[in-house]
Amino acid sequence: MLQVAINGYGTIGKRVADAVRAQPDMAVAGVAKTRPNFEAETAVERGYPLYAAVADRAERFAEAGLEVEGPVADLVAAADVVVDATPSGIGASNKELYQEYDTPAIYQGGEDADVADVSFNARSNYADAIDAEHVRVVSCNTTGLSRLIAPLSETYGIEKVRATLVRRGGDPGQTSRGPINDILPDPVTIPSHHGPDVNTIFPDVDIDTMGLKVPATLMHTHSLNVTLESAVDAADVRDLLAEEDRLFLIPETFDIDGAGKLKEYADDVGRPRGDLWENCIWAESVSTEGRDLYCFQAIHQESDVVPENIDAIRAVTGAADAAESVARTNETMGIGL
Ligand code: NAD
Repeated sequence: MLQVAINGYGTIGKRVADAVRAQPDMAVAGVAKTRPNFEAETAVERGYPLYAAVADRAERFAEAGLEVEGPVADLVAAADVVVDATPSGIGASNKELYQEYDTPAIYQGGEDADVADVSFNARSNYADAIDAEHVRVVSCNTTGLSRLIAPLSETYGIEKVRATLVRRGGDPGQTSRGPINDILPDPVTIPSHHGPDVNTIFPDVDIDTMGLKVPATLMHTHSLNVTLESAVDAADVRDLLAEEDRLFLIPETFDIDGAGKLKEYADDVGRPRGDLWENCIWAESVSTEGRDLYCFQAIHQESDVVPENIDAIRAVTGAADAAESVARTNETMGIGL
């Protein structure tokens, strides 16, 4: 049973903890937080041992009536692997701690690529992370792009990817990002960081990305044009994408016209927190003009990286190969709509 530490118990960390608990070969050794809040309360309610991420703040937890097991260093020392889900940039400063205890670490996409030996997407390069010490699960958007690029590249070959990413302004709980009412080219320069980030997974793919931020919290939406190496039929592309467990082709008959209904659908099918772990691709948007493929996909920023973290845990510990790990993660989480 792999003992997994989770340092940073916010949007990503709490979802990773629940996904770890659902695995037959993993257990949550504990979660570390900087301060008491509703997430610390629910961590304790769920039975996750709570650790203080900043040792001299432990008494703040006691004042809030929460018992901590000890400092985060104790958790890192006891665990087989640590998932760092702290805010962007903090993961890099935690690296020394993980090295001190020789605990392999998984970082998130908010960190620069050079924090890790490998940038990771299970569908695309699982094998590169086997037995690596430091692995970065790429961001929600890069995960979404990589899952789509992998089958297209393997089956047809890719000449060029052009993607426009319409990004949510903040997560639903990120009240500090609002109130907002604007549409920002973000960044206004081209390319956005997403294209170079995709190249950490696919070094040879020619990709240009442009980003915008809009006053929405539900999901990101990508508008894609992929020039393939040969002319393809849209129906064949749909069949290819439908075979991928982490791609959900939204059937035309569902009458889902945007992120609002997608999230409603996730709630209706009983997804925890209304999570959508899969890329959500509108089937009727998948169109071709000769070698050019077009489509729209929505990406649930809070959850698509969660199964990737589970697979990264198995990769760094050498616990399973890609096919075994992905199948187990998909089955235990109920991935595949
Ligand atoms: P978050 O702010 O929701 O959660 C971060 C948690 O870490 C909070 O509980 C915070 O209190 C805690 N924390 C702060 N400093 C800490 C420290 N020094 N040690 C331990 N814990 C500390 O952030 P998030 O959205 O979960 O993002 C975490 C990482 O995941 C970032 O790299 C982010 O870029 C990446 N990511 C976020 C999203 C998203 O949409 N939210 C999607 C993909 C990847």
